[in-house]
Amino acid sequence: MSEKNDGCQKDIRSCYPQELETILSNMGEPSYRARQIFQWLHRHHAESWNDMTSISKKLRQNLSEWLSLPTIEVLARQASGLDRTVKYLFGFQDGQGVETVLMWYHYGASICVSSQVGCRMGCGFCASTLGGLIRNLTAGEMAHQVAAVHRLDMPEGERAHSLVIMGTGEPLENYDEVVRFMRLLNHPDGLGMSYRRITVSTCGLVPEMMRLSEEGIPVNLSVSLHSVNNEVRDRLMPVNRKYPVESLLKACREYAQKTGRRLTFEYTMITDVNDSLQDAAALADKIRNIHCHVNLIPLNPVAEREYRRSSDSTIQRFADVLTTKGIPVTIRRELGADIDAACGQLRRRNDLR
Ligand code: SAH
Repeated sequence: MSEKNDGCQKDIRSCYPQELETILSNMGEPSYRARQIFQWLHRHHAESWNDMTSISKKLRQNLSEWLSLPTIEVLARQASGLDRTVKYLFGFQDGQGVETVLMWYHYGASICVSSQVGCRMGCGFCASTLGGLIRNLTAGEMAHQVAAVHRLDMPEGERAHSLVIMGTGEPLENYDEVVRFMRLLNHPDGLGMSYRRITVSTCGLVPEMMRLSEEGIPVNLSVSLHSVNNEVRDRLMPVNRKYPVESLLKACREYAQKTGRRLTFEYTMITDVNDSLQDAAALADKIRNIHCHVNLIPLNPVAEREYRRSSDSTIQRFADVLTTKGIPVTIRRELGADIDAACGQLRRRNDLR
């Protein structure tokens, strides 16, 4: 962070109100100012000190001299012509950028946030990992994506209904900042978003899944499974060599038991790789005693990859097998198909295209 933020290790947007209080009291300001600033940043989506109109001009001037407020640049904004989906490329101060997506459902808006610039998990069907991992995002940078989407496209006074951490990156590899981000989002002086409306998606980092189950925040966990056959999963997802199917499913069972939350398994349907009726039966068998539901995702095309999506009829038949075997299943709707805004299509920079 800049030298301006005297004694504070975190950027201002990453700070909890108590931490802002400490900074402000060092400046001789009363503690209620911290709460005001937090509300301006996380509830009213202020971009600059000058936006904070309930604070006197003199103090705003003082704040801007003492504390640096990170900026975010809208490098691109693409609105789908097919539905209300919007995809953004946001740039941070060090020149790195990530994509964020706004999606609309009948119940309201959902924002898909990136947790890292790039990704090092190496899943064979995903665009986000093509250039490797560049760096983790801070909690403030994740919160800034949410604020910027609200500023740009949320109707006045309306808040996003839910949030998914399913953009670029493996959130559980950036554990501390992601948990801090979820706490910021949940804070009553911020958006006050219920943990039940927040979903973290992981490729299956077992120790961090167990740690999350003990964090005391009842968020939804979504696990990218894609196969219950170790040979196939090894090929699709290198992480499986470290945490194979058995240990992953054991962790899933424990997560569901410990948190009382129903887990989601994401299963991307790929022609002749994981989409046979036998695959469906094996899946049903392996997850039978886990409190869960399965979300089937038709594979989204990624130019550099050779996998092909399963046909609609194959996906439907696969779903029918799961239903017959008592496993709740949904088929993910494809939003923003014309702007590459779907799962596995998000990237670091426009220039990778
Ligand atoms: N790293 C996290 C979150 C990001 S991906 C994770 O692995 O869960 C969000 C979901 O999209 C994951 O289930 C991922 O496996 C899936 N996905 C990746 N590439 C895809 C593609 N080309 N088509 C469909 N789904 C894809």
